[in-house]
This record gives sequence, structure tokens and C-alpha cells, in this order.
Amino acid sequence: PEIRGDSIRKRFLDFYAARGHKLLPSSSLVPDDPTVLLTIAGMLQFKPIFLGQVPRSYPCATTTQKVVRTNDIENVGRTARHHTFFEMLGNFSFGDYFKQQAIAWAWELATKEFKLPVERVWVSVFEDDDEALAIWRDEVGVPVERIKRMGAEDNFWSSGATGPCGPCSEMYFDFHPERGTDNADLNDDSRFIEFYNLVFMQYNRTDDGQLEPLKNKNIDTGLGLERMAQILQQVPNNYETDLIYPIIARAAELANVNYQTADDHVKTYLKVIGDHTRAVVYLISDGVYPSNIGRGYIVRRLIRRVVRMGRLLGIRGDGRGNQEGAFLPTIAEVAVGMSGDVDPNVQQQKTKIYNELKREELRFVQTLEKGEKLLEELLTEALEKPVNDKPCLNGKDVFRLYDTFGFPVEITEEVASERGVAVDLAGFEAEMDVQRKQSQAAHNVIKLAVGGAAQEMIARVPETEFLGYNELSSSSSVL
Ligand code: ATP
Ligand code: MG
Ligand code: MG
Ligand code: MG
Repeated sequence: PEIRGDSIRKRFLDFYAARGHKLLPSSSLVPDDPTVLLTIAGMLQFKPIFLGQVPRSYPCATTTQKVVRTNDIENVGRTARHHTFFEMLGNFSFGDYFKQQAIAWAWELATKEFKLPVERVWVSVFEDDDEALAIWRDEVGVPVERIKRMGAEDNFWSSGATGPCGPCSEMYFDFHPERGTDNADLNDDSRFIEFYNLVFMQYNRTDDGQLEPLKNKNIDTGLGLERMAQILQQVPNNYETDLIYPIIARAAELANVNYQTADDHVKTYLKVIGDHTRAVVYLISDGVYPSNIGRGYIVRRLIRRVVRMGRLLGIRGDGRGNQEGAFLPTIAEVAVGMSGDVDPNVQQQKTKIYNELKREELRFVQTLEKGEKLLEELLTEALEKPVNDKPCLNGKDVFRLYDTFGFPVEITEEVASERGVAVDLAGFEAEMDVQRKQSQAAHNVIKLAVGGAAQEMIARVPETEFLGYNELSSSSSVL
């Protein structure tokens, strides 16, 4: 009798609604905010209230927010807990309740509502936040061995150099309590999973770097729905929860493989397909179409990854007998079918979604076939002009095959080695690095400038354009 993902979502929202929170819908994945490309956290729709630019219409609110985090793309399918698309459940206080109440409710939710055994819940606090530590220890009763102080990198949220900021406190679930409390490391993901983050927005950082207390202290939280489902459904990773597994099962069926007995390599491909399929379905539903710029480029790259991995798994055609057809719509149907409680709009947009997916997939398959031709030419050339007697593909060409034609380096290597040609992996990595370095701008930071995002943009137009360019390269480097 496992608890379904849909019911976890409902119970979280009901819990906070029953405690006076206004239940609001998720906002779009396309944020109403020029400082981030996509919605990366539940707080984004409330940013103007937190900044005091817009008066609050209710003292506190609760939502499930559709989120896409491209900075986690390299973790997808590799860690048990990271997605590009996921749902972030949240409760928010706009100058209403603060630390003590937020902690008390988070604990009640975890241990009473979701019935996590108390001895399996650990918490982190910001190293200087004695107040939070005292609340967890003295009021909630968490033994000090299960409270860890952490540094600013993990446990202090800020918006940039100045503006509202504050310490965080995270809740973790322990999969291996038998390992004891000595030397336990909350960042050890073979043992722990972070599921809930509480941000205590209590300071304003002034121009001279001082922290001054905010008059209106705010609460911003995020709980990963898929992570809570993993814990409650007792499965080894988020992908095997009922929120994602049906998509994987459909892909496995088309590829004619058995996920449960497949090797890790195949499982990773299937997990990436499960993840990215959800992402592209919700992104297209929110009006982001494949293109070569900005958000559209992210969708394009996600689709290409799914197509590439589907083909590596041997999926051809639409999986229903039409060899010329596209398989992505066949898989996306499952994600669309599960979307009702998240976003009713997806069902209404489904024809549009399938058409976009189909068109993009068929176009990309042509590109892949062109890439195969190019690879052939490069191999012939390498064999004709060996370097120091050794035929070798240079890093720039391998990178071009990867970046422009979607060829994963393993495939290039495999084909090359069949022909007795080596691959300059160091050169390829160097090219990757160049792109990665350009991408540090990372849209995973929500900028909260007291002057207001729009004003900030206007004040820094040239810089902003430059960042836009970097964001573009960043997406291509990670996908
Ligand atoms: P982690 O340390 O595991 O990467 P995080 O500290 O980056 O997580 P937060 O920014 O605190 O995550 O987000 C709030 C919550 O959202 C997390 O506690 C987690 O439950 C969930 N979450 C964050 N990133 C992801 C992701 N990529 N996929 C799924 N859930 C996520
Ligand atoms: Mg993270
Ligand atoms: Mg974390
Ligand atoms: Mg966190």
C-alpha cells in the first residue's frame, strides 16, 4: 500500500492550507523575470513580494512549482536524486511566521504527516545560526548528533552582493541508520538524501557588506516531490517512483529491454529519457519551442539527447510499426497522461506538444545522418594523413561532431577504433572546458536586487547581453 506521488503532493498542500496558507497554482516555467532563463525555484513568483515591490495579498502561501534546473543536467541519471524537471513543493511566509514556526511545521509534516521515523531525520543549520540549532535541539528535540553545522556555500542563501539574504536549514533522510552517528557526512549520497530546504530570509546585506536585520522576515522553502516519493515508496532512486517510472517503462518497451535486469549503462539512458521527456513536455506546454536561442535552445538540446539515447537503445521509428515515424510522441504520451494534477494545461496542449516533438526529432535524425557522413570523411582524412604514423581524430573535430551533430564522444571513439583511428580525448576535453568556463554565469542564481530586477537590467545592458551569449554556450556545453 504505497503512497502515490499525487497523494504526497496533495498532502503537503493540504497540510499548509489547513495552517492558513493560501493555495496558489504553479507559475509558468517561463519566469516573469529577466534575471533567470527558466523557473528554478518555488520562490520566484513571490520575488516582488519578498523585495517589498508589491504588497502581499495574503500573509503566507503554498504551491507546487514546476521547476527546470539545467545546472543539474550532468547529474541526471547518475545521481539518484537530480532531475532537470521536477516539482518543488513550498510554503512561504511574507513577513508573517518565521523560523520557529517554519521549523515546527516542517518537522510535523515530515514525521507526523509523512511518518518518517524520527531517528532517520537529520538536519543541517548554517554554522553561525545558533538560533536555528537551539530550536531543532531544544524545542523539536533532535539530538545534537543529528544536527550538522554547514558553511555558507550550502547553507546561506543570498541574492548577490547586496539585498535580502539569510541562513538555511535542510532536512535529510538517513537510508543507513546502522552506520551510526560518528563521522556521518550529510553530503554522502550513498547514505543521505536532502529533501527539504528552509530559507530564513532575515537580513539585508548593505553596500558595505554589513548584515542588518530585515523588518519583515520571510520564509522560503522547497521540498522535492520526487525525493519524498523515493523515500516513502522505498525505491532506490527518484526515477523508480510512480512519478517517472511509467515513462521509463514505455521507453524500455520500445527499445525491447528490461529495465530491471538491464546494465547500468542502459539504465542511465532510460533515466535520462524519463527525465528529459517530462522536461520537454512541460516546457513546450508553457510555450517554449525548439530553436537556436535561449530557452528554445535548451528544449532543442533536451530533445536531441532523448533522440540520441533512444537510438543508442535501438529504438527506430515510432515504436508502433512506422519506421519513418518519431518515437518521442509515443513516450511523451505517458508524461502527458500523468500531468493532470500538476498542470491541467498540458492535456489541452497535447497535440501541439506531439507535433513539436515529432518535427524536431525527425529533423534531428537527418542531422545525425549528416554527422555520420562527416565522421566518415574525417576518418578517411585521418587515415590518409596520420600524425607521427598514427591516424587520429583531433579534439576540435570530435567536439564539432558532438556539439553540432549530437555525436557523443563514445560513439565517435567506437566508430573510429573500428577503423583503427585514435581519438584525441584531451583535445576534446579542452574544447569542452572552454565552453564550460564561459558558462559560469549559470542561471541557477536568483538575483534579488533591492533596486528591482528591471532597473538592474537597464543599468547594465551591455553586460546583460554578454551574459545572454554565455548562457547560450553554457547550454550547449552541458547537453
Ligand atoms: P542538492 O544539494 O541535493 O543538489 P539543493 O540544495 O541544490 O539540492 P535546493 O536549491 O535547496 O536544492 O532546492 C530545494 C529542494 O528541491 C531540495 O531540498 C530538493 O528536495 C529539491 N531539489 C533540488 N534540486 C533538485 C533536482 N535537480 N532534482 C530534484 N529535486 C531537486
Ligand atoms: Mg543542487
Ligand atoms: Mg543541498
Ligand atoms: Mg538545499
